[in-house]
Amino acid sequence: MKRYSAFAIAREALRDHTGWDRAWRKAQPKKRYDVIIVGAGGHGLATAYYLGKNFGITNVAILEKGWLGGGNTGRNTTIIRSNYLQDPSAAIYEKARSLYETMSQDLNYNVMFSPRGVMMLAQTEHEVRGYQRTAHANALQGVSTEFISPARVKELVPIMNINGPRYPVLGALWQARGGTARHDAVAWGYARACSDMGMDIIQQCAVTGVSQEGGKVTGVQTTKGDIACEKLGMVVAGHSGALADMGGFRLPLESVALQALVSEPIKPCMDVVVMANTVHGYMSQSDKGEMVIGGGTDAFNNYTQRGSFHHAEETVRALIETFPMLSRLKMLRQWGGIVDVTGDRSPIISKTPLEGCFINCGWGTGGFKAIPGSGWGFAELMARGQSPLTDQFGLNRFSEGRFIDESVAAGVAH
Ligand SMILES: Cc1cc2nc3c(=O)[nH]c(=O)nc-3n(C[C@H](O)[C@H](O)[C@H](O)COP(=O)(O)OP(=O)(O)OC[C@H]3O[C@@H](n4cnc5c(N)ncnc54)[C@H](O)[C@@H]3O)c2cc1C
Repeated sequence: MKRYSAFAIAREALRDHTGWDRAWRKAQPKKRYDVIIVGAGGHGLATAYYLGKNFGITNVAILEKGWLGGGNTGRNTTIIRSNYLQDPSAAIYEKARSLYETMSQDLNYNVMFSPRGVMMLAQTEHEVRGYQRTAHANALQGVSTEFISPARVKELVPIMNINGPRYPVLGALWQARGGTARHDAVAWGYARACSDMGMDIIQQCAVTGVSQEGGKVTGVQTTKGDIACEKLGMVVAGHSGALADMGGFRLPLESVALQALVSEPIKPCMDVVVMANTVHGYMSQSDKGEMVIGGGTDAFNNYTQRGSFHHAEETVRALIETFPMLSRLKMLRQWGGIVDVTGDRSPIISKTPLEGCFINCGWGTGGFKAIPGSGWGFAELMARGQSPLTDQFGLNRFSEGRFIDESVAAGVAH
């Protein structure tokens, strides 16, 4: 595949952009693969990429029932941070954040990583204590964060009202190298690199059943026929329960809609990401100028990928005390994705009771930031049967009562 470069752009400009290759090949399923990944979201594609790059496993198919990146990967608000409380979480999220730093060069694809800084507001005394504790934990984990004063918050975000009557800003947990990246570009960049390694990305191909013999996976049934494989990776976020059911096992998670919305575009007014978890809202400004706004999950389990009016109203109402300028903005559009939430708000990256079948799910409201770290660890688990990054995230933690409690870092926060 031809590399993208300034020279290539100049060359194509001179010949009316007629010489670009397709970013990835259109593939039809072969009879058999060494590895099948179900789900062409960021996590599935990253897994395939690191299987090829780190372990030389390239006889791989990635099966997607819709279009590549059309699940939560193309629906999220793109926040990247690694300021989690527990050690296993900090390790995998910081691995991911550090891979984001060089992802554009690594994939030869501009993912627009923007380390503009992420701020989690403390608006109650309880949050002050919680975030100070997280800052101390992060220091021990080698994750660079600090607890900052209200004055520093105001200096970083002048449009904020820090003296609200109900929820004044009492400080914030600040991660200066957190930020955002372009979500579609992350999926497209990995897809291009996977296709370049000879892997087959097969869209419009829903997995409808899992074939097994003697307790071992042998392949999948799909809308494009049966396909055999040695190893199977399920990476389908909100549909994980349905896939596990096909494999004959159950997962301790719930699927629920999470919504977001954007305002009309306005001039640059905020160059960091702000999360206000007590009031259930967070916001950043996109390169186009839209304010990208998100809130909490729906209060009931569902498989809806649309937005609902009351959610937009509640989220904006929650943020208006801290951001009075929002009352003057028109909202442009809203949407939803189906997130997969575990009881301890940590992911499941694990072998399953079905031999040869692995699962990566439970990223809930906050898995975009984890894509490269998750792909790195899951690929290692699938290739070698073990990975230091994923060891603690096994399914067995639920039967052993060994939870990785991230309800503070990952409940509303993304
Ligand atoms: C509104 C919203 C805001 C969010 N904000 C953030 C944020 O700011 N920061 C952050 O870190 N995270 C955020 N997230 C969470 C993040 O988007 C997800 O954790 C992450 O994208 C999950 O990626 P994935 O690859 O696991 O899943 P997905 O991208 O959903 O990919 C799974 C794929 O599997 C496919 N699939 C399902 N069933 C089948 C089948 N039977 N056969 C074949 N294919 C199948 C689906 O079509 C889908 O494309 C947000 C999520 C939402 C919805």
